[in-house]
Amino acid sequence: MRTGLSVDEAQRAILEATPVMGSETVPVREALGRVLCEAVRSTRTLPPADCSAMDGYAVRRADLLGASADRPIGVDVVFEVAAGAQPPCAIEAGQAARIFTGAPLPPGADSVVRQEDTQREGDRVLIAVEPEPREHVRDAGEDLKIGEAVLEPGDAIRPPQVGLLASLGRSVVAVHQRPRVAILSGGDELVEPDGDISGGRIVSSNSYALAAQCLEAGADPVYLGIARDHPDEIEARLRSGLRADCIVSSAGVSVGDRDYVRSVLEKLGCELDFWGVNMKPGYPLAFGTFGGGLPLVFGLPGNPVSAMVTFEQFVRPALRKMTGQRAWYRPTLQAKLGERLTKSPGRLHFVRVSLERRDGEVIARTTGNQSSGVLRSMSLAQGLLVFPAEATELAEGEMATVQIVDESFFSCESRGF
Ligand code: AMP
Ligand code: MG
Repeated sequence: MRTGLSVDEAQRAILEATPVMGSETVPVREALGRVLCEAVRSTRTLPPADCSAMDGYAVRRADLLGASADRPIGVDVVFEVAAGAQPPCAIEAGQAARIFTGAPLPPGADSVVRQEDTQREGDRVLIAVEPEPREHVRDAGEDLKIGEAVLEPGDAIRPPQVGLLASLGRSVVAVHQRPRVAILSGGDELVEPDGDISGGRIVSSNSYALAAQCLEAGADPVYLGIARDHPDEIEARLRSGLRADCIVSSAGVSVGDRDYVRSVLEKLGCELDFWGVNMKPGYPLAFGTFGGGLPLVFGLPGNPVSAMVTFEQFVRPALRKMTGQRAWYRPTLQAKLGERLTKSPGRLHFVRVSLERRDGEVIARTTGNQSSGVLRSMSLAQGLLVFPAEATELAEGEMATVQIVDESFFSCESRGF
């Protein structure tokens, strides 16, 4: 088993071992956030016929050459076409049809004049503009043509894609399955949030934070509970996670006397690929597979910040790949350091930072105590600043790469325009 990998080596090994999930059919109504597993071609012409983009009059342009506000030209209104109706016949020279937005253009008409540019007088209408050719006309097929490629496998389904699928008459769609992630916490000191915390016990916050991270990544968490620090109990709970696509266990993967998770995983047939990544927080990370296949197994460190940061760097990209997404990584940006940072060489540090936009720049400041037990520093962080492995100092005012972990950073309290 390899040890002491760089963040890059570890991430590459994990992503190489990570398969993309198979397909399932879901209602289009519930497909938001999923990734297409099929190519979608248009089975329809949309709009199905030339139609009006305005409420007004369908006209023959040749009748209205030279029309203006001073010299309006009158034509006969011979019928009316509403959206969803069919014109009864063509219009002839000197004729117009009253028409509404979305209604099909009658044969013979080649433009639409807006109601605002007309004056109705009984069966006639005075038109005060000379229309451009095909003005306010939506051409048949300008949105979609039969047989045209509309969406591709791997396209993420956002609200416009939901609308497109629906407009093509689709009620169901093939998407990649959501991976199921079994989450195990381990430690004699751990209790559920409503449990008794006397005698030095603490709440198993990782169970909840990691499940939330799974949901945010597009996966379904399955809770395996809290295992006491005993190999039999860890084994029993891990066994029930073997049907999942992924197992994420936190704590017990280090080198302590009571760290049984690694040995139990190996007993169950998991082949550990590596243990230990040169990063802080989060050195004691283990990754393995079952003969190269599922479930993928991540043994994360127990400290709440280490668990969440290693999830961000390794589990999240793998889950994104599994869900069929093309974009596996969080966005990054360049930020100016609001303070000086130092460290010893050898490990890449992910520094929890808050971000502030100022004069077209983004200023990054640490969120206080960077101990891996201080979960609050994570809740205050919008980004993880990348302090490269071999670097020992980043000066105040220097630019650094920040991985945005709180995408609401891109939402604003003011409109911006
Ligand atoms: P360990 O890897 O078991 O040595 O745990 C390292 C630290 O993480 C210890 O302080 C544990 O109490 C803490 N810890 C382990 N598991 C959890 C958990 N599920 N939730 C919160 N803290 C945890
Ligand atoms: Mg422990």
